[in-house]
Amino acid sequence: MSTIIQSLKQLHAQIQQAETCYQRQSDSVLLLAVSKSKPASMITTAYQAGQRHFGENYLQEALSKQQALGAFDITWHFIGPIQSNKTKAIASHFDWVHSVDNLKIARRLSEQRPQYLAPLNICLQVNISDEASKSGLRLNELAELCEQVAMLPNIKLRGVMAIPAPSFSFEQQCQPYKVLYQAVKKLNKPELDTFSFGMSDDLNAAIAEGSTIVRIGTALFGAR
Ligand SMILES: *Cc1c(COP(=O)(O)O)cnc(C)c1O
Repeated sequence: MSTIIQSLKQLHAQIQQAETCYQRQSDSVLLLAVSKSKPASMITTAYQAGQRHFGENYLQEALSKQQALGAFDITWHFIGPIQSNKTKAIASHFDWVHSVDNLKIARRLSEQRPQYLAPLNICLQVNISDEASKSGLRLNELAELCEQVAMLPNIKLRGVMAIPAPSFSFEQQCQPYKVLYQAVKKLNKPELDTFSFGMSDDLNAAIAEGSTIVRIGTALFGAR
């Protein structure tokens, strides 16, 4: 059996086990396959094994794969940094964007979302522990940006995304997710139902702390 198919099975088993272990509802965590820097043929293999949600970081690379895989019923997620000159194509070619961290980008995505498509699903990327990273808004900006983004017409604010600084104990991995999860719950907005938390190295901690989408690259497609 192909490594990708095997890894997919292992990941589903790991997610299921974590859901049970941390008293999460079964099937409450979606596996997003992060295919950046991997060829369309690998996406095809995962697709044929049942995977439907794929995440990409780089627009041009994503567009060429989407063109190659046009016949497939894939839900595409944009998870990389967003330059304003790319918003039009992102708004037209993706179903989800996880990496919105300012109002200007959110406004452009809303204005440029084609009317014939459903509203674009948006997560706000919050910089919760990685001081070195330029991406992501600060936690103290979250409430205001949520209010502003929620009013835009062609996007649907779904929740938050975080990429914490790497840490190696389970407790340390949990900490930033716990803080962000509680901050979102305090906003008391039931429509914020999405926590895009967790990558290959910290998915158990992320699921323990409320993740609803884990973004997995390496553990599925191998090292980049
Ligand atoms: C690359 C990437 C991932 C996947 O990371 P792995 O450690 O390979 O699982 C997840 N989220 C974002 C935003 C990424 O850029």
